[in-house]
Parts: sequence; structure tokens; C-alpha cells
Amino acid sequence: MTVEQDKHQARMAKKKQVVDERIAKATEERGVLILMRGNGKGKSSSAFGTMARALGHGQKAGLIQFIKGRKETGEFLFFKDHPQVDFNVMGHGFTWETQDKQQDIDAAQQAWAIAERMLQDDSYDILVFDEMSYMFRYHYLDIEPVVEAISRRPANQNVIVTGRTMHTKLTAIADTISDIADVEHAFRKGVKAQPGIEW
Ligand code: ATP
Ligand code: MG
Repeated sequence: MTVEQDKHQARMAKKKQVVDERIAKATEERGVLILMRGNGKGKSSSAFGTMARALGHGQKAGLIQFIKGRKETGEFLFFKDHPQVDFNVMGHGFTWETQDKQQDIDAAQQAWAIAERMLQDDSYDILVFDEMSYMFRYHYLDIEPVVEAISRRPANQNVIVTGRTMHTKLTAIADTISDIADVEHAFRKGVKAQPGIEW
């Protein structure tokens, strides 16, 4: 063996030892709260991807989209009739155009009522609250009851929340937080939004 190969082997053995030690320490089995935040593209699609992964294992999922943008998104069309998915889109009352605050608050409260029920139901293995963070930013929902309900959820239930910004009270109780950075986006190059990529 050359000196170089020798060094490489020693480095890899050391690395394996470190990784093995870390694996041995992670023994807790419980559901986690994952936050996908930041200005880049990939938060909601990551959440749907993780949900698909859970479905592959026969798990049951609850999905609530807290922002009503487009009517027929690819995720809606694909998952809406899936037997293991309970798909909910926030009421038609919510739009950026109407600027009717009370109507938006009512829609947010209705969506939250569904979310709260799911957080008390241990038949759901994974919950996705897509774009929920805006509900706090625009004061459509209070953060305290949400933090309370997430904290008291069934021990093995996984929850994913997406949105550009996250309330500090939510980051305080999260297990995994990923920042999706906006390095570049096709939109700024003049490329039109397209089905299958944007929605
Ligand atoms: P995706 O649903 O594709 O995973 P996302 O959830 O991370 O995106 P949102 O803030 O929910 O991002 O925005 C959704 C839409 O906005 C998508 O059409 C996405 O391509 C677009 N988008 C995301 N980031 C940017 C950006 N930095 N500039 C312009 N458009 C963006
Ligand atoms: Mg999104």
C-alpha cells in the first residue's frame, strides 16, 4: 500500500468511527417537527416529496395548503384521490385580490380547525402544513395555540411546515430546520412559470 492509500484508509476509519458514534447516540424514536423556510425554491416540493416517501411505507398523511393560489396544482391532482392522503386546501374565501381581512381570517381559522383535529389524531403519521407561516405573519392565526397543539401531538407523528419566514416560537420547538437559499431562479431570467415545476 502506498503512503497515500495508507493515509486515506486511516482517514476513512476515523470518519467511520465518528459516524458510528453519532448513530449509536441517536436512539430516540419519535416524530419530528421539520421547518422548510427561506426565499429559494424547494420548500413545498420537499414537503410533498417527504410525504410521498411516507406513503410508500403505507403511512397516512394529512396535508393542508394555507394559501390558495392556483386551483389545480399538480400536487392536488396527484394526491387528492390517494387513499392514504387527506388533502385540504384553505377555503376559497382567501385570496390576495379581495383584501377582505375578516374573510381571510375566517378561512385561516377553518383551515386551522382541520389541522388541530389532525394533531389530535394518532392515525395520521405525517402532517404537512404548506405555507402556514404566512398565517402568523399576517396575523390571521395566533401562534400560541398552534405551538401548543404541535407540542401535544401524538408522539410518533411527523409534522412539516413550509413558508419563507418562520415565527421564532415555531423555530424554538422544531427538530429539523432547513433554509432554502435563493441562489438563482429562472423567473428572473424571464422564464415563464410552468406546470410540473412551479405548480
Ligand atoms: P416549490 O413549491 O417549487 O417547492 P417553494 O415552496 O419553495 O417552491 P414558494 O415560496 O411557496 O416556494 O413559492 C412557490 C412558487 O414560487 C413556485 O412557483 C416557485 O418556483 C416560485 N419561487 C420560489 N422561489 C422563487 C424565487 N426565489 N424567485 C421567483 N420565484 C420563486
Ligand atoms: Mg411553497
